[in-house]
Amino acid sequence: MTAPVDVTLDLTSLRDLPATDRDRACDEVCAALEGKPAHEIATWAAGVFGRDLIVAASMQDLVLPHLFARVIPDVDVLFLQTGYHFEETLQTLQVAAAELAITVVEAMPVQSVAEQDAQYGEKLHDRDPNLCCFLRKVDPLARSLAGRAAWASGVRRAEAPTRANTPIVSWDDTHDLVKINPLVNWSEQDVEAYQVTHGLPRNPLVAQGYPSIGCAPCTRKVAPGEDPRAGRWSGNDKTECGIHQ
Ligand code: SF4
Repeated sequence: MTAPVDVTLDLTSLRDLPATDRDRACDEVCAALEGKPAHEIATWAAGVFGRDLIVAASMQDLVLPHLFARVIPDVDVLFLQTGYHFEETLQTLQVAAAELAITVVEAMPVQSVAEQDAQYGEKLHDRDPNLCCFLRKVDPLARSLAGRAAWASGVRRAEAPTRANTPIVSWDDTHDLVKINPLVNWSEQDVEAYQVTHGLPRNPLVAQGYPSIGCAPCTRKVAPGEDPRAGRWSGNDKTECGIHQ
């Protein structure tokens, strides 16, 4: 156990600060949190934001919901209900809701898949995945974060070059709130160790060759040794859905 995190900045007032002061405040918090274990970062976040914080989770694993459920009882856990998930992912969501002290909040797109098909044609994900992701992920996330003080994500720096510089705490200009990434320094082995230590249920797809799980039409298995995110939007130069900008 390291020394308790002692960051006295009032992040809840960040909205009222000029952008440069906001960034400076977040940088100072990052410096204080860098190198701290994830549960201490979560404890700090719980103390600052309490239930005004919402945890985004893809149900690839239950690490982040479990981490925050230990410090914020019945913490809100946001799941982007795109309408295109694998059955295994939806089952994992059910298990999470039943076994963890969390409150699942499902972010729904404005249109059902059938309504989207009627307006844009079938399989928009194959023809214009950026638009499909905007309609089914980016816009629902934005609406779900409105009114919140902070959100937490499980982004890790080791996942992809595009994530290598992810800060632990930042001001999310797009959604006008604080974003917290407690797992930035974790490896795949750290994720595995946490799951084993806490006996967490698994999304069975991970053991079947899916190290990074998104919507079914845009996720394929990867070969051993292949980039874990190579199975996302495979054959397309798209690498991110747009919710982690
Ligand atoms: Fe659509 Fe694919 Fe994005 Fe899911 S991951 S919202 S199916 S483009």
